[in-house]
Amino acid sequence: MKQVGVTVWFTGLSGAGKTTISRAVELALRSRDYSIEILDGDVVRENLTKDLGFSKEDRYENIRRIGFVAHLLSRNGVIVLVSAISPYREMREEAKNRIKDFIEVYVNAPLAVCEERDVKGLYKKARAGKIQHFTGIDDPYEAPLQPDVECHTEIESVEESVAKVLHKLEAGGYIN
Ligand code: ADP
Repeated sequence: MKQVGVTVWFTGLSGAGKTTISRAVELALRSRDYSIEILDGDVVRENLTKDLGFSKEDRYENIRRIGFVAHLLSRNGVIVLVSAISPYREMREEAKNRIKDFIEVYVNAPLAVCEERDVKGLYKKARAGKIQHFTGIDDPYEAPLQPDVECHTEIESVEESVAKVLHKLEAGGYIN
């Protein structure tokens, strides 16, 4: 039977765990032979949206382009894992409306936890005023009100978070 595509959209603060969970989901699915693609915000910003910054307008454009590519891929049977802060509810709604099969995953960790992790050292820079418009510090993050999946990464293991996502994909009939 032909694989039905879907976009799994991971949203959350920097350091919440989007990349970690999506990579682990990718690994789990690759070993099962599914067509799968990753669109990671940090990587996309080095190519597809290299021209964009972090103003509200540019953030919308960044998400619009990612959403467009995810739409093309998932309508052709690919499981697309998008990992992008995507801080505004409205921009995620736009992506959701464009993409037929869409699962929103809220990767939720308190700001204090993300800041403590400071995986990329960016919170420190933002606090020191070396980076402006940093989500959670001097730029807003609008949490999803009704995400399809919510991962509480300050209390869950990566495996537990991954299992939630795989379970949702199974429930939707996207994987067996
Ligand atoms: P993001 O992609 O959201 O910016 P990262 O995945 O780069 O975040 O970083 C998340 C950090 O949190 C990693 O160091 C990861 O090991 C840690 N972490 C702890 N528990 C979890 C969990 N349940 N899920 C995901 N990441 C976790």
